[in-house]
Amino acid sequence: PERPELEALQHADVARLLPRPGAESDKYRRGVVGIAAGSTRYPGAAVLAVAGALRGGAGAVRYAGPAGDAVLARYPETLVSDGGPRRAGRVQAWVVGPGAGDDADTVAEVLDVAGEADVPVLIDADGLRLADPDVVRSRTAPTLLTPHAGEAAALLGVDRAEVESARLAAARELAERYRATVLLKGATTLVAAPSGRDGTAPVRVNPTGTPWLATAGSGDVLSGLAGSLLASGLSARDAGSVGAYLHGLAARRGAVGAPLAAQDIASAVPDAWRDIA
Ligand code: AMP
Ligand code: MG
Repeated sequence: PERPELEALQHADVARLLPRPGAESDKYRRGVVGIAAGSTRYPGAAVLAVAGALRGGAGAVRYAGPAGDAVLARYPETLVSDGGPRRAGRVQAWVVGPGAGDDADTVAEVLDVAGEADVPVLIDADGLRLADPDVVRSRTAPTLLTPHAGEAAALLGVDRAEVESARLAAARELAERYRATVLLKGATTLVAAPSGRDGTAPVRVNPTGTPWLATAGSGDVLSGLAGSLLASGLSARDAGSVGAYLHGLAARRGAVGAPLAAQDIASAVPDAWRDIA
C-alpha cells in the first residue's frame, strides 16, 4: 500500500514518546544535552536555548560558549564549561547555532566532537549558515536541522517566496541534500526525514502551532527543547516533531489569547507536558 505524504502527529503518539525517568534513572542516564549557542553580541539566545533544554527531559544541560555568565545568572542548574565544546565533557546530543553570530569555529568544533563521539546534533539559526554542508552530509549520527523559511531558502539558494509556496518540497529537498531530518518552521511546521532503506517516511505536520509563537527568541527555545528530547534518546524525527508539538502547546497554555515572551513559552512547557502525559 502507498504511504501517505503527510501525517499529523497525534496526542497519543506524543504521550507515548515523551521520555519518562525510570526508577533506576540518574541524571546521566536520562541524557545530557550540550548547548553551544549565543555570542557576546547575542547572549540571550544561549539563555533561551538552555531554558528550552531544561524542560525537554534531559537529566542535565551543559553549556559551552561565551554567554556562560548570563546563562548561570538565569539558570544556576546549567553545567557551564569555559573551555568550548571539546572540553565540555560527554553529552548525548548537541545543539549548535542559535545566536552564534559569525562564530564558525564553534560550529565546526561541535560537528567535530559530535562526529568523534557519534552523537546527534541539532543545527539552528546561524549554525545553518556556518556549518560545512559536506561535514553535515557525511555524519553517521542523526542530524536535525531547524530552519525557518528564510534560512531554508538560503540553504537551498532560492528566494524565500519559493520556499513559502512549496514548503513540503523544500523540506524534502533539504532532507535529501543534507542527509538530515529537517524541521521547517513557520505557520505550519513540517518535519521531513531523509529517505532510508525502506523508502521515505511521511512528513509530519505539527498541529499545535499558534501565531503567538511568532515572537523573538521562540525558535531558540524550540532548539533547546528538541535537543533535550534528542539527548533523551528520541530519533531526530521524533525529537523534532514532539518538540514542535510541546512548543506550540506551551505557547497556547502560556498565552491564552495574549502576547507572550519566548521565556514564557519555555516556562509553560511543563504545563503542556502534563496535558499530554
Ligand atoms: P524563529 O523564527 O527561529 O524564532 O522560530 C519561530 C517559531 O515560531 C517557530 O517555531 C515557528 O514555527 C513559530 N511561528 C512563527 N510564526 C508562526 C505562525 N504564524 N503560526 C504558528 N507558528 C509560528
Ligand atoms: Mg531562529
